[in-house]
Amino acid sequence: MFNFFKKKEIASVPDWKKKVGEWNTREAELKRVTFEKEQKLLMEQTKAAQKAEREKLLTYLGASFQCHICHTPSKQPLIIEGKYVDQGMGCGYMEGDTTHWNQPGDLWQCNECNEWTCKDDLHNHICKNCWSNKIGQKL
Ligand SMILES: [Zn+2]
Ligand SMILES: [Zn+2]
Repeated sequence: MFNFFKKKEIASVPDWKKKVGEWNTREAELKRVTFEKEQKLLMEQTKAAQKAEREKLLTYLGASFQCHICHTPSKQPLIIEGKYVDQGMGCGYMEGDTTHWNQPGDLWQCNECNEWTCKDDLHNHICKNCWSNKIGQKL
C-alpha cells in the first residue's frame, strides 16, 4: 500500500502532455464562447423577428378594428385563456392560452348594432349610441 502512494506522488505529467491539456482546455473554452455568442445572436434575431411580426400584426389589428364611436384602434388581440381539458377517467391536460389576431381583445360588439365598441363607450353590452336611442337622450 505504501508503494502505491509513493508511486503516485512521483508520477508527474511531462510538459508536452501538459501543453496538449492546456491546448484542449483553450479550444474547449473557445468553442464554448463561440457557441454562446452564436446562441445569443440567434436569440436576439428571433426576438427581433418576433417583435417585428407582432408590430405588423398589431398594425393590421388596429387598421381592421376600431371603436365605432371614438375610433380608437384595437391594440390587443383576443387572448383566450387556456383551460383544463378533462378527458374522463382522471385523465386530462392543460391547454395553453391562444392568441387570435383576427379578433380584437379590447373591443366588444354592441348587442344592438353589432359594431365594435371600446370599454368606455359600452355599458351592459350596449354601445353609447344605442343607449342614446333607447333613452331618447343624447349621451
Ligand atoms: Zn370608444
Ligand atoms: Zn350599438
